[in-house]
Amino acid sequence: MSTTITFADLGLNPSILKALADKGYARPTPVQEKTIPLALTGTDLLVSSQTGSGKTAAFMLPCLHRLGEPSPVRGIGPRVLVLTPTRELALQVQNAASTYGRELRRLRCATIVGGASYTTQLRLLAKPVDVVVATPGRLIDHLERGRIDMSRVETLILDEADRMLDMGFIDDIESIIAKLPKDRQTMLFSATLEGVVGKLAQSVTRNAQRIEITSLALDKAKISQRLHFADNMGHKTRLLDAILKDHTMDQALVFTSTKRAADDLSAVLRSQGYSADALHGDMNQGSRNRTLRELREGRTRVLVATDVAARGIDVPGISHVINFDLPKQVEDYVHRIGRTGRAGREGIAVSLAMHAERHRVRLIERYTDQPITVSVIAGLEPSDRPRPSGARPGERRSFSGKPGGDFARKRPAAEAARSSHRNGNRGW
Ligand code: AMP
Repeated sequence: MSTTITFADLGLNPSILKALADKGYARPTPVQEKTIPLALTGTDLLVSSQTGSGKTAAFMLPCLHRLGEPSPVRGIGPRVLVLTPTRELALQVQNAASTYGRELRRLRCATIVGGASYTTQLRLLAKPVDVVVATPGRLIDHLERGRIDMSRVETLILDEADRMLDMGFIDDIESIIAKLPKDRQTMLFSATLEGVVGKLAQSVTRNAQRIEITSLALDKAKISQRLHFADNMGHKTRLLDAILKDHTMDQALVFTSTKRAADDLSAVLRSQGYSADALHGDMNQGSRNRTLRELREGRTRVLVATDVAARGIDVPGISHVINFDLPKQVEDYVHRIGRTGRAGREGIAVSLAMHAERHRVRLIERYTDQPITVSVIAGLEPSDRPRPSGARPGERRSFSGKPGGDFARKRPAAEAARSSHRNGNRGW
């Protein structure tokens, strides 16, 4: 939050301002400050922003403001269409729309996602709707059956476009866009605007303005990052147990790289007496919703999840994010650890790495431009402890050899991300 600009300065209508004040938002975040005034003019936008930056409100607030004007087109179809990669994110966007729009008269929102009942969705779509938040696959189903009218769409939002492309939604996205009015406004939000996302952006927007938010959400959030080296899986599991027993642990989100591993690890944790559960894409929507509800209500203390399933989880009680397996892509590290340190609280991100994974850790540090402190737990020291040159035993150093907490290397994160993409370092 860089300035003293208020939401009222951005030109939003009083009912929206009231909802924001009730929600306790004092000021716009940087992405909101830059995006909202431009979005209100109706121009197309390409916005590079991270999860946790406040991007949802950045696109939803101007859309809600513009819904204050009646639609020039008669019909019952949506005026705002938001496409998201996952069901969880779609539900979160829909919640945001309802929260920010709660003072608006007769705002109607619908979520159209896979895994949910067709009948309920058909019932929703048979009535007038203002905002539809959808995952591409299910929306295509409804479009092909002629169940949704796109003639009134004024604004299209592609949220986390990079992730939608990673998940193979490109054909679905193109088919959906082909059915939208040509004179719509399009806003694309993505962690990166390079590569395939850049190509998509060019083909779906007209004279778009670019907004680059250079600081990673991590800079803003109070997340302390640590790393433990493990000799083998047994050692990793013992480290996890010790971390979960820490008195600062409230709730933890533990990441594994596969769905199977998420199920297996949550079973192990349950057998150790933790109230643990798993969340991944093979679960049906009902059990995913139930799992998230139990997490939110504090009944589940440890949730073991895969990257895609955990996207968009916003539970303030998550004190720890633990990378039981390191992420496959560097960007996922930021998405993962951004699940803690929510709502102004402090968060702890702990990564467990095998010795052979040192290069991955280095890539993460390079991407975030932040050092990760190597730590040890008494009695669980790795047998082959890497000791950066110059570090005395017991001294905590970042993996790259810098003292932990030294943020002196000031290459902007966006630049780091760009050069990492240029060098083909997106994955491992
Ligand atoms: P997002 O990047 O959209 O996932 O938002 C991240 C979190 O920031 C959510 O919990 C929002 O409720 C919260 N948030 C968004 N905008 C603001 C703001 N202006 N002030 C305080 N919190 C905000």
